[in-house]
Amino acid sequence: MNEQLLQSVTVIKGIGEETANALAQLNIHTINDLLEHFPYRYEDYRLCHLMDVKHNERVTVEGKIQSEPSLIYYGRKRSRLTVRLLVDRALIQVVFFNQPYLKKSLAINETITVTGKWDQHRQTITANEMKRGHYSMTTMFEPVYTVKGSITVKGMRRFIQLALNQFADQVEETLPAHLLKQYRLLPKKAALTACHFPRSAKDVKQARRRVVYEEFLLFQLKMQALRKFEREQSKGMIHKYDENKLNAFIASLPFPLTNAQTRVVQEILNDLNSPYRMNRLLQGDVGSGKTVVASIALYACVLSGSQGALMVPTEILAEQHAHSLTQLFEPFGVNVQLLSSSVKGKRRKELLSDLQAGDIHLLVGTHALIQEEVKFKKLGLVITDEQHRFGVEQRRILREKGENPDVLFMTATPIPRTLAITVFGEMDVSIIDEMPKGRKMIETYWAKHHMLERVLIFMEKELIKGRQAYVICPLIEESDKLDVQNAIDVYTTLTNYFDNRFNVGLMHGRLTSEEKETVMKAFTVNEVQVLVSTTVVEVGVNVPNATFMLIYDAERFGLAQLHQLRGRVGRGSEQSYCVLLADPKSDVGKERMKIMTETNDGFLLSEKDLELRGPGDFFGKKQSGLPEFKIADMVHDYRALETARKDAAMMVQTEQFWQSNEYAYLRDYLEKSGVLRGEKLD
Ligand code: ADP
Ligand code: MG
Repeated sequence: MNEQLLQSVTVIKGIGEETANALAQLNIHTINDLLEHFPYRYEDYRLCHLMDVKHNERVTVEGKIQSEPSLIYYGRKRSRLTVRLLVDRALIQVVFFNQPYLKKSLAINETITVTGKWDQHRQTITANEMKRGHYSMTTMFEPVYTVKGSITVKGMRRFIQLALNQFADQVEETLPAHLLKQYRLLPKKAALTACHFPRSAKDVKQARRRVVYEEFLLFQLKMQALRKFEREQSKGMIHKYDENKLNAFIASLPFPLTNAQTRVVQEILNDLNSPYRMNRLLQGDVGSGKTVVASIALYACVLSGSQGALMVPTEILAEQHAHSLTQLFEPFGVNVQLLSSSVKGKRRKELLSDLQAGDIHLLVGTHALIQEEVKFKKLGLVITDEQHRFGVEQRRILREKGENPDVLFMTATPIPRTLAITVFGEMDVSIIDEMPKGRKMIETYWAKHHMLERVLIFMEKELIKGRQAYVICPLIEESDKLDVQNAIDVYTTLTNYFDNRFNVGLMHGRLTSEEKETVMKAFTVNEVQVLVSTTVVEVGVNVPNATFMLIYDAERFGLAQLHQLRGRVGRGSEQSYCVLLADPKSDVGKERMKIMTETNDGFLLSEKDLELRGPGDFFGKKQSGLPEFKIADMVHDYRALETARKDAAMMVQTEQFWQSNEYAYLRDYLEKSGVLRGEKLD
């Protein structure tokens, strides 16, 4: 970038120290910062036809004054100034509140342009702006900026205008000419000017299009360059395994793999075979059968003489996985062990030394796996289930426990494609987009709280058939205590309600892991028929006889999370049901409940969730790891995002990109971001 633009804003004539300090509050330090402080919207001053305008909408019209202005005072400072105005062929009224001084500029037969709110019933505009004379083209769109402290929007406009007047000529093109041509993008300088001071709706659109593409391209270049370097630099392991043995294992499974499972297994095996380090995200809806895919990958790894690790977010899930893997691998002589916080003392010591000696082939556990004391002999593959719950740091530590082990992240939260390619842009992605045959759709209903009685009768019908039920209590933000109390209350209510007819169990985050295990076991073997639980039960738990789920205060959950919870039922061959108990107040809330009742497709739900809640809320703020764009919007501009990704992926593979002058700015950008020095984005 031109060095001139990296100078402090004080270099601009008309901006002094004081303004500079105020701008610094907005993180605007250099001239370039100021030029790239984009408006977040525009005030629209386009001339309208009143016939096209709805009640209460903002309008700008031009007309001829038809009456002497009448001014009325009420109270000491308040006034109301009214004139009649002929607009096209309609006679309307224009009202100015508390602007008595305008009276002298409003004379009969004078032409004025006014902007304000249109009251259709009274045929009146409540004006907040007025200009004498004909509508002038230069004011069609006025940019509106984020401002802070002493800086007003008007002030910001002026500062940016000053910056453009004095420094626009220093703005250099950042994109290669052929891209500008291919996508018909405005040159950088023109785009900046049009963005801040557009003269037409087309200007706004074109300027935005250019800026959005550039933002996405820069971001995707980082991702793609990182991906390229990871592939080239990290010497991964080549896992050589006996294919016949692996096939024998696959044939021993109680069911044939679905086509989607077969496909992703192949993608993963290719990675294992390759000298690159696998860095792959496996997405598949709840119940799509990710566990068996994981076990095939783990077995291939064991057959090649390495160890595997499976890391999951909760102890319950760790136990379940350890249990099912043990059964699965028993006939194949694979030693599977569980490392949880309840494995203590001598037993723990033994386990750790067996692991280091290589006698344990597969280790399953929670965060416990990434403690210092856990040492593998030869870690070849790390799989994390429901990975979005792990922090980036935890993932890194685990990866470093081996010498570049292959890494597979599994998630059942279907991530909309737009997010997947931004958040996980540097990874390869495999998707299981097919359910095992014979799955029934989970019938989902939305009930208001006052209908609880009827819901419980419905639930009891299922229990009488010998089935089991989950009752999920709402998560109360920031209060683990209230959370637990809530679950206890529901538990008490239901215990009373079902009296001696059915047993009710209680599960929440405050229980010790032994207590949790006891409850879970009782539910698994059907000693407990109704399990009241907080969301700890969310991930992975598998009790096929449970066919009914009741979710309290469902409006508090995101769609993705509701879907995840719902996935605990519908795991057997019987018809399952899910009832959402909710009295949402907002339209969005109602919309979300409705969508849940209409579809079982996790990917569709995740797209909707993203639309309704925005990307920030999608993963929860803390772990979002979402990039922030100045102007681009990942959801609405997803086409541009995909295009930029494709372009970036191609670019980094070409000779020209790394050599030709056309790409100098982009290379420079990568250099500055640290990607070229092999620094990780996280
Ligand atoms: P998730 O993807 O949610 O982790 P699981 O791996 O727990 O799903 O699988 C859900 C259920 O589907 C399990 O009971 C599993 O045995 C079964 N399953 C997995 N793959 C198949 C298949 N190809 N055909 C039939 N059942 C399958
Ligand atoms: Mg699972």
